[in-house]
Amino acid sequence: MTYDVIVIGLGGMGSAAAYRLAQRGKRVLGLEKFTAVHAQGSSHGGSRITRQAYFENPAYVPLLLRAHEMWDEIERDSGQRIFHRVGGVLVGAPDSGTITGSRASAEQFGLKHELLGAVQLRERFPTMRPTPDEVGLYEPGAGFVVPEQAVRAHLDLAARAGAELCFEEPVTHWEDGRVTTTRTTYEAEQIVVCPGPWAPELVADLDIPFEIERQVQYYFAPDVEGFRDHPVYIWDREGSQFYGFPEIDGAVKVAFHTGGQICTPETIDRTVHAHEVEAIAAATRPVLPGLAGRFLRGATCMYTNTADEHFVIARHPGHVGVTVACGFSGHGFKFVPVVGEILADLTIDGATRHPIALFDPARLRGGA
Ligand SMILES: Cc1cc2nc3c(=O)[nH]c(=O)nc-3n(C[C@H](O)[C@H](O)[C@H](O)COP(=O)(O)OP(=O)(O)OC[C@H]3O[C@@H](n4cnc5c(N)ncnc54)[C@H](O)[C@@H]3O)c2cc1C
Repeated sequence: MTYDVIVIGLGGMGSAAAYRLAQRGKRVLGLEKFTAVHAQGSSHGGSRITRQAYFENPAYVPLLLRAHEMWDEIERDSGQRIFHRVGGVLVGAPDSGTITGSRASAEQFGLKHELLGAVQLRERFPTMRPTPDEVGLYEPGAGFVVPEQAVRAHLDLAARAGAELCFEEPVTHWEDGRVTTTRTTYEAEQIVVCPGPWAPELVADLDIPFEIERQVQYYFAPDVEGFRDHPVYIWDREGSQFYGFPEIDGAVKVAFHTGGQICTPETIDRTVHAHEVEAIAAATRPVLPGLAGRFLRGATCMYTNTADEHFVIARHPGHVGVTVACGFSGHGFKFVPVVGEILADLTIDGATRHPIALFDPARLRGGA
């Protein structure tokens, strides 16, 4: 069977790429190792923060402006509720990279935001107990997206636009123009690889040392009121961050952003241990008392980290008809729709109007 484009991996990025390519009239085949909307990779757990005052680098902001526009479009076209604009607050020392970086992005792009001192922060958000020297950057346009709904919506829209989507059909090998799975071999002019934490296996010849990091999403029934009508937040203390969400279906989710074990999708420990639950509860206790009331459940997830924590999105330097998107380093989900658009641009036009210089794989090749 011959296609215009084969998309390998139908998680966050691959589902969006399949949709945008099919929407632009391409004959698309999507191949996924697991079932649709599974919990084995990086795109599950009920919530993902999205925000635009990006402390990681202002170069991401134009992409986030487009992504927020696109989430609205996808909700409309799919009839799924994906984006909850509950607001977001970043808390940290005024000179922390989290605060200075997000302020710089907000100011450069004229994004709506407010800088709140500790007293104002506590008045506005009574669940929070910042120390007197902590500040908060509040962004009213921030919030969270539901990854399962987002992937589902993209898969539905892709299928509606004519894409053929195959699940439980792992790719065992790909080369220019040809993809082999456990079932058969397919041919296509172009290939798009969206491997998530399977990047070390599926794009080994990029020669990039990806680090796969295990992270746990913890869900608690809080002991206190006030988490239902609540912004998303990231709390930065001495460079270590944890973040969380409002109460959804009786559960608040919190997680650490740093310090996870290095693993592979084969070796990851999927058990959430009591000492880990105690560690996250202890981190939240002084600043969000009552949040970690009763532990309900935990779910592991994987980050695919690059050395500088910036993404890899490019035409594959070693192949003619191959485009890759990986290395999202634990902050990629909010970009899913715009990454789909960029991948369609790169595949069809060979270039994109979006600024993606930061994501060039050449910067990472052969790194130790
Ligand atoms: C705990 C946690 C919290 C996060 N929080 C946030 C957040 O708040 N905000 C944010 O923006 N981002 C967040 N992220 C990051 C974000 O979720 C990821 O960057 C994003 O989901 C990555 O999408 P992906 O498509 O690269 O990977 P995935 O969604 O994992 O997709 C890769 C797909 O490829 C498939 N695949 C692999 N091998 C094969 C094969 N051989 N054949 C066929 N298919 C294959 C996999 O099964 C999978 O479906 C978080 C991640 C985690 C783990």
